Order: sequence, then C-alpha cells, then structure tokens
Amino acid sequence: MINRLSTLYRLQMIDDELDQLEEMRGDLPAAVYDLKNQIDSIRNLVEQRQVEKDESRKKMIFNEDEIERHKADLVKFKSQLYQVRNNREYDALTKSIDKAEEEIVRLENENKALDLLIERLKAEVADVEPQLSTFQEELDIKESELKKIIEANEREEAKLTDKRSQVVSILKQGDYNQYMRVRKACNGKAIVTIDRSACTGCFNVVPPQRQLEIRQNKRLYNCESCGRLLVSPEISKEVKDSY
Ligand SMILES: [Zn+2]
Repeated sequence: MINRLSTLYRLQMIDDELDQLEEMRGDLPAAVYDLKNQIDSIRNLVEQRQVEKDESRKKMIFNEDEIERHKADLVKFKSQLYQVRNNREYDALTKSIDKAEEEIVRLENENKALDLLIERLKAEVADVEPQLSTFQEELDIKESELKKIIEANEREEAKLTDKRSQVVSILKQGDYNQYMRVRKACNGKAIVTIDRSACTGCFNVVPPQRQLEIRQNKRLYNCESCGRLLVSPEISKEVKDSY
C-alpha cells in the first residue's frame, strides 16, 4: 500500500511540474485560439459575400438578356399592330405589349436593387477586410511567442512526460482514474499531505482520528473538506527526498 500511495504522490509531483510548464504559456494558447476563430469568421463572411455578389451579378446578366428579349418582342408586336384584322387580334397584341413593358420595368427595377445590393456587399467586405490583416499580424506574433516557449521547454517536457508514463504504468488503473478525477475537480492538485494538522490542499483541519489513520498508510483517504486524496507527511517527505 505504501508503494501505491507514494507512486500516486510522485505522479502529482510530476504533474505539478508539467502544470508549471503549461502555465508559462500563459494566455497565449487561448489568445491564439481566439484569433484563429476571429480570422475564420471574417474569412467566412468575406467568402459568403463573394458568393452573394457572384450570384447577384449572374442574375443581373440574366435579367439584361430577358430585357433585350422583351424589347425585341415589343418591336415585333408594335409592327404587327399595323397588320391586325380584327378587334380580338388588336386586344391580344396590346395585352402582349403591356405585359412586355411591365416585365421590362420589373426587370430593370430588380437590376437596380441588385446593383445596390452588390455595392452594399462590397462595402461590408471593405469594412472587415482590414481587420483580417490586423488579426493575422497579431496571430503571427502570439504564435511565435508560444512557439519559443514551447521549444524552450520541449526537452524538459519530454523528460517529464516520459517519467509520467513510467509512473502511470505501475499504478493500478483504479488509483489512476481516481487521481485524474480528483485532479480535474480540484484544479490540478489531486493528492496532498497534512501539515500542522491541516490538509495542505484546502488548509482545513483534519480530525485527529483521521490523521492517525492516514499515518498508518493503509489506504487512501479523501479530505472531508475538499475531497483531495491525503497521504501522510512521511510519504510526502520520502517521495520528495527521492524525487
Ligand atoms: Zn482539503
């Protein structure tokens, strides 16, 4: 049992060091993540507007062809007016002329609206595009800072990771799972010791009877206040001395 407890405590010490390395990165990883998201959303917006612009242009060209077609019809209908033989034919022709004229007006209005839309889309892109280069510059700076920190700690981190997997390999799966669960719940510190009768994780007093039990190193106890795993000061000292 003593081995199980000290192995867990050793794992905590390794994780503490890894956490410290992680902390040196500060808010850089989060900043890089945010900047990438912002750049992505601007790029998406620009792309969307581009698609909308292209579609509007296509529609305008289509409408222009339609207008030409209706205009040609009008010329034809108007020349036919001179050849009508009865009222029925005359009414049918004027109806066709009215319809073609209405269509031309409708299509011309639609194209005016599309033209305005294209201008608005262009303005929107012009608004956000300068931000893109600002964010990209910021991202480059943060990424290179982060890279420097990671590279500087690379060797140490690899050593620690290696050490960690060796320790994990000799731990019981259940102990490891419990450790990881508490570690996640307690902000990284899963296993602590007792100092001056208090849990060193939350500084609440551990009842004397429980302290005695913990000193026997016979099983894992949780702090009643914070839930962290507790080991005796002897185990803590032994692991620290040999670390
Ligand atoms: Zn505690």
